[in-house]
Amino acid sequence: MIRRFLSYYIPHKKLFAADFSSAVVVAILELAFPLAVQWFVDSLLPTGNWSTIAWVGVALFLIYGLSTFLQYVVHYWGHKLGINIETDMREQLFEHVQKQSFRYFDNTKTGHIMSRFTNDLFDIGELAHHGPEDMFIAVMTFIGAFWIMFTINVKLALVILCIVPLLIGLIIFCNLQMNKAWKQMFRDIADVNARVEDSVSGVRVVQSFTNERFEISRFNKENKKFRKAKILSYKVMAFSLSGIYMMTRFIILIVLVFGAWLSFTGQLSYGELVAFILYVNVLFKPIDKISALMELYPKGMAGFKRLTEMLDTEPEVKNSEDAVAVKTLRGDIQFRNVSFQYENNKPVLDGIDLNLYAGETVAFVGPSGAGKTTICSLIPRFYDVNKGAISIDGMDIREMTKESLRSQIGIVQQDVFLFTGTLKENIAYGMLDASDEEIADAARRAHLESFIHSLPDGYETQIGERGLKLSGGQKQRIAIARMFLKNPPILILDEATSALDTETEMIIHEALTELSKDRTTLVIAHRLATIRNADRVVVVTEDGIAEEGSHDELLNQNGIFANLHRVQFGR
Ligand code: ADP
Ligand code: MG
Repeated sequence: MIRRFLSYYIPHKKLFAADFSSAVVVAILELAFPLAVQWFVDSLLPTGNWSTIAWVGVALFLIYGLSTFLQYVVHYWGHKLGINIETDMREQLFEHVQKQSFRYFDNTKTGHIMSRFTNDLFDIGELAHHGPEDMFIAVMTFIGAFWIMFTINVKLALVILCIVPLLIGLIIFCNLQMNKAWKQMFRDIADVNARVEDSVSGVRVVQSFTNERFEISRFNKENKKFRKAKILSYKVMAFSLSGIYMMTRFIILIVLVFGAWLSFTGQLSYGELVAFILYVNVLFKPIDKISALMELYPKGMAGFKRLTEMLDTEPEVKNSEDAVAVKTLRGDIQFRNVSFQYENNKPVLDGIDLNLYAGETVAFVGPSGAGKTTICSLIPRFYDVNKGAISIDGMDIREMTKESLRSQIGIVQQDVFLFTGTLKENIAYGMLDASDEEIADAARRAHLESFIHSLPDGYETQIGERGLKLSGGQKQRIAIARMFLKNPPILILDEATSALDTETEMIIHEALTELSKDRTTLVIAHRLATIRNADRVVVVTEDGIAEEGSHDELLNQNGIFANLHRVQFGR
């Protein structure tokens, strides 16, 4: 896991090397500074030589300048490194999610994917920057400082070595308390946010029951809980900061008093005493960093583990090694003994045989849950069959690349998904490089033209969350316009179950009739007009394909279809 994590540094090794070596130099300068002060106090001051002192001052100034520059490099390049790694991972993750098959999205919550993109990647980025660098620098400074202190004076160094664990213990204790308090606080703010979200999106229900008072009191309760948690976390923080402040002053005081005694008895020079006090200050930094890492490391690594788990999920539907990119298909579709299930031991389709001929329109009818949508999802390989085979123009669809296969199939779903953006962009989703003329032509054929011209911004009208809201019929027509641009030989239409008004229904029916001309069209049909105009009707029930034939043939058979027809259309 750690090796895999480190492998993300490889493309940025130059940046890492620059950042890391700068950090090492900064740490060495920091370690050397007390020694310089010691020399200054013990050897330089007694000489009383002003010009030397002035020159030393200039030299120290230059060294400080260098250190300042290097610290800038460490902060800036270090974070740049972290962000670069985070960006690489985000790109990889997005690409990976795009490639996943439908079943993956059936089984994975959107929120789960979103939190990989936000929280986890943020934690990983922080760890990528601070992890290796801070760890190395902290250990180096800690050991270095002690090593120098021992060479200066063993007794005083030993005293410090005995009390520093107290400080470390205190910091760890404070960190644990702090984490606990923060976690509670985050849980409580999540509850508050959930309440806001719930009552805003459910505001119509709230107001129609006149339950505003109830919502307010429920909200206030959560809000007070959050207040309590936040106050507690600040209390813990105040305690930590002042406790650590006291502890560090205490250590300095001990060094001062014990050092003074050592100095009276001639075992320590003034310069050495000053150096010691400075080294104690140097020590505080790595202790602080390591305790921060103790929180960062498990958080970042847990995020990284979840990320790699996601990245390691292979897409279910893949191209076989010798898959062929098909060009223009005619559109003869054949199901041979096809069985399919979404979940184990719950077969949805069992041994389906079905022939669709190029250019014909076939209506699928039957009770909801029978498997009509499922049959249609198998043709573009949104799922792979469990048994049997589907072929188009005599070729098994698993022998085609899924990109080329899908480029030959157009799908208009019940609820049309529109992206945030302009109307034009949404139509052009069917052919990304469509010209304005082609887009206008598609819109005209989808009977969208007069609607678009009635909008002040026309094709540039923003739609979606903060833009124009479209009716179901308008959305459907945008989906149809997309299909005119895509121009596939095979078309799948999942008709909306909810009733459109008669006029809209007629317009859409007209547009669809034109669209399905010269294409093999599968319609999951709910409208009488569609069923009547289809070349063939296939009745799907839970037991498979029950009846097949033209509209009139099936009515005359007086079987399931005739029955459905009577119930649904009353004639
Ligand atoms: P229809 O389109 O005829 O209404 P579907 O093809 O949507 O029927 O559904 C057929 C059966 O498969 C139903 O029992 C449904 O619950 C189940 N089903 C549909 N989609 C999924 C899915 N993504 N995961 C699991 N089960 C599903
Ligand atoms: Mg359906």
